[in-house]
Parts: sequence; C-alpha cells; structure tokens
Amino acid sequence: MTSMAHITRLDDLVVNQIAAGEVIERPSSVVKELVENSLDAGSTRITVEIEGGGIQRIRVTDDGMGMSRDDAILCFERHATSKIARTEDLFAVSSLGFRGEALASIAAVARVELLTCEQQASIGTRVYISGGATELVEDAARAPGTTVVVRNLFFNLPVRKGFLRSRQTELRSVTEALFRLAVARPGVGFVTKTEKRTIWNLPPASTLKDRIVQLLGPERAESLLPVRASVQGLEIEGWVQPPGEARPGKRQQIIAVNGRPAESPEIRTALTVAFQGGVMPGAHVHVYLLTNVDPRVVDVNVHPTKREVRFKDPGAIRDALIHTFRDALSVRGANMQRSLHETRIRDTVHPGDSRLAEGKRSGSVREEDQIWAFPRDSIKHFQPKHLHHHPRIELETSEVPFLQIAATYIIAPMGDSIVIFDQHACHERVLYEETMKRLSGVRAMAQQLLFPLHVELNAREAAMADEFEREMKQVGFEIRRFGETSYLIEAVPADMMNEPDEALIKRVIEGLDDPEWSALSKHHRIASSIACHSAIRAGEHLNQEQMRDIIDRLLATDIPHSCPHGRPTFIQVTPTELERRFKRT
Ligand code: ADP
Ligand code: MG
Repeated sequence: MTSMAHITRLDDLVVNQIAAGEVIERPSSVVKELVENSLDAGSTRITVEIEGGGIQRIRVTDDGMGMSRDDAILCFERHATSKIARTEDLFAVSSLGFRGEALASIAAVARVELLTCEQQASIGTRVYISGGATELVEDAARAPGTTVVVRNLFFNLPVRKGFLRSRQTELRSVTEALFRLAVARPGVGFVTKTEKRTIWNLPPASTLKDRIVQLLGPERAESLLPVRASVQGLEIEGWVQPPGEARPGKRQQIIAVNGRPAESPEIRTALTVAFQGGVMPGAHVHVYLLTNVDPRVVDVNVHPTKREVRFKDPGAIRDALIHTFRDALSVRGANMQRSLHETRIRDTVHPGDSRLAEGKRSGSVREEDQIWAFPRDSIKHFQPKHLHHHPRIELETSEVPFLQIAATYIIAPMGDSIVIFDQHACHERVLYEETMKRLSGVRAMAQQLLFPLHVELNAREAAMADEFEREMKQVGFEIRRFGETSYLIEAVPADMMNEPDEALIKRVIEGLDDPEWSALSKHHRIASSIACHSAIRAGEHLNQEQMRDIIDRLLATDIPHSCPHGRPTFIQVTPTELERRFKRT
C-alpha cells in the first residue's frame, strides 16, 4: 500500500536550516551578518578573529549597546529583530536587509556562544546555543558590548560543509567582506586577526581617504581622484582610480549605501559609461563610494543576501552620475594644468627680485609653495621654493620647462612632483576626444588639399570608406570615390599635426575595421582609428611649442589619464616616491 503524504508543519530547526541556506552560505556570510549587527548596535570598535578560514571559529567582539538578558535569548528566534516594527519600515532604506533571521540561521547551523552586556547593566548574559537548541543561559561579567563566537560551521550539515572551499579561500572571502565593511564605515575601528596574526588594525578614521590609506597604503591611495555629488536624493562621495591605472582582473568597486556595502546597477552602469574609451576592455578601475540615499527615491530589494538598491527614476540618476564621474576625471587634468602653469610662472622669477629676500627672511615655507624648479634650480643659486609671492603673469617667459627625452617622453615639473608624459599616448587621447566631440557636435574645419591625395583601397577598405563616409566628413575628411578602387582625399582635418599622406589615410581607413574596436560604436571606432594612426609617434622630436600644445590639450580632455587603449598617458613621480627611491625614509 502506498503511504499518503500528510501535510505537517516543519519544525523550527528545519525552517531555520532552510533559511540558513539562503543567508549563510559560507564563513564570510557569518562575518558579514555579525559585523553588521555590531555596526547597527552603534559600535565604535569591532574585532574579528578567524580560525580555520572561519569554518572552525569566528569571533566578533564589539563595544556597542549590548543586549538585555531577555533580548539575548530572543535574538536567536526567527524573525526576532529590534529593527523593523511595522511594515512601512520595510520600505525605509535603513531597513535594508534587516529580517531578523541572521542569528537564528547561524545558530541553526553552528555552535554559538553569545556574551553580551548592556551599557548601564551591572551584569551581562551568556547564551550557548547549538544546532538551534539553547543549551545554557547564565549571568556573566562583561564590559558593555557583545561578543559572538561561532564554532564548527555546518557541523550538522555535512553536505553544506563539503561545499566549502579551502581555508585560504574562505579566509580570503572573509577579508574581502571585511574590506568592504571597513570602507563603508571609515569612522569605526576594525581589528582583524587570523590564527593570532593581525591582518588589519584600523583605528577609527576621520575620512574615507584616511581609511583607504590604512587599507591600501599611501602610494596606491595617492593617485585616487575625488568624486562628490548630490543628485536627486542621492548624496555621493568617494574616490576613483585614474583610468590609466586600471588593470584587468577582479573589480574592486565598493559602493556603500547608507553605511552598508550594497549593489547598485545604476551606479555600476554610470561608471562603465563614464570610463568608456579610458580603460582597456575587461579592465576595471577601483572605486570606493559612500552614498546616502533618500528612501523616497529608491526601491529596496530586500533579498536576504544580495543587497541591491534600485532607483525609481534610474535613467535620470544614471545620467547625473555619468556627469559626476566624468567631472571627477577631468578635474585632475584641470588641476594639473593650473599647477603646471604656476610652476612655470614661479620658475621664471628674476633672481634679483626684491621679494626673494623677503621670502628668505620670513623663513616659513608652506607645503604648497614648495616647488621643484627643474632643471633650472640646479644651475641657479637662488631657491625659488623659499619665495613667497603672488605669481605674476608677465613673469612668464617662453622658456618653458618641458624636456623631451628619448624622443618619446615629455617631462615637466608640477608642484613638487615630476610628471612624465608619453607623447604618443597623450596625443592619442587628445585626438580621440577631439574627434568624438566633432562627431557629436560641430563639424570640423576641413583643410582643402591643393593637390588631392590619391589612395588605392582594396574591396574591404573601400566598403569601410563608404560605410563611414558621413562620419569621416563630419571629422574633416573629404573622401571621394574615383574609379573602382581609387579614392581621392580632398580635405583633411585642419589641425592634424602630421603631414597628411596616403599611407596615413589608408591606415586610418584600415583601422576602422580593427577587430579590437569592433564591439564599440561607429564613433568610437572612427575616433580610435584616427587617434591611433595619426598621433605623433615615439621617436619624433618635438619643440617646446609642440610639447606645450599636446600637454595643454591633454589636460583639457575628459579622461586625461589614459589613452583610448587604456594605457596611462603620464606618470607622476611624487616627493614620497623620490624619498623612497633615495632611501631617505
Ligand atoms: P536583524 O539584524 O535583521 O535584526 P539578527 O538576527 O541579525 O537580525 O539580530 C537580531 C537582533 O539581535 C537584532 O535586531 C538586535 O536587536 C540584536 N543584536 C544582534 N547582534 C547584536 C549586537 N552585536 N549588539 C546588540 N544587539 C544585537
Ligand atoms: Mg542582523
């Protein structure tokens, strides 16, 4: 006889184990949940200790508000939370991911010890709970705050345990989760240890930049570009890596929404679009953004683990963000331009200037007044860095301190750094952006050639020339078919630096078909090909005026840091770097 299935209520342990499957995937999910609870409890310092990749033991200690004895018992019940009282709270963004099931889930699949004490209480509470069953509740002494120890994760679910990776891999996942949390809350101190070794000791930082310096070191933090904006209920503040430094591989784009790491498709798309034409395909810039969103402009997807924020008007937010990121990228160019200019002006102060003596007497040298007068400083007796004066424009002479070395690099002092530009990459960036602007705006000035150039194209190239005819015209090329495979070039863009010749134009047309660019839009393809083939090459000697022209135009572009292939256009050698190289530190 066949047995009829009866409907039965699943017991709590089974329910919690099922829920745990969603919430608790691996040690890093436990760490994330525990640390977020500590943050919610208003902690200022959180210590996380990991053993055996977190599979053996995870211990999170905080100095937050702690729990009463009743709460210490209740917190392990499913749907026990102090954070959502009413349904409306669910729609407030501050309730992102609060479902009151983390502790219940963790307790269902591990051996948990909780030790907690409220701020004003005379005694605290210890609770042992294992596989969902409470084993002990007792009074215990503790300074205000909470400690949660999670041992033997998945001890009662061998199959789940079998899916865990090696200890090293799990540990890496834990540190990645902690890295995101540490970025999201610069003001909170984090200590992370594994097998008694300290991985991080991060004191509370006053700014996000300070926190990034703590995590990555000053060298890597130094080149980051600031982002700050306030658009339609979204406050955004953070740092992005210049595109020239983007490397293929894992993306480190940390976005915190209201103090918690979160995902936002709009922010990601805006980043991709803003950096288009600036990073190599497959490469990513590092991004660290803190955002605050007004609950009214978002739809919060309360998925237990994937915290994602969706805006009610995604298009508008995206466009505003693209502008914000673009601005962040061009600001550095503008600042550099200003500093380059100031350097030049200061450098040309006449040694007999009376203000020199004043400056020397005053003896005080502000950081931003220190300049590296290179190379003239080495041959003159005075030290411009001790000067205090207001730069006067008329002091500028034609002696611009640009140097070209190896007929490839342009060197210029800037503030107290040295900047080394790659002339080809710089010119490529300039031509790329100038072409892109022409394609979407005013038609370029065409320079009519007195003697049209004659080029022979094969069938493939001819097809390209025809397909791109309109765009090429917009940019300033006038190409006319002249027989089967012959074309006449009647005009070229007026400001093309190189002498136009047949071979060059043929290469530009060939380049339209470059497989590397084939996934990109027509505009990108044409701009890339022109940039790539008509930019000055390495090995070409440049005079001062040409160097200045390239650098000035570069610094006026939207993404001055990299060429359209994503290679850097310049390297900045800072005093810190020099100190390091000369072993002064
Ligand atoms: P949720 O965080 O979604 O509310 P949890 O299961 O993670 O659910 O936690 C349940 C409750 O336990 C929290 O709402 C909070 O009141 C309390 N709690 C958990 N961890 C801590 C802690 N470190 N300090 C103080 N209270 C805590
Ligand atoms: Mg929680």
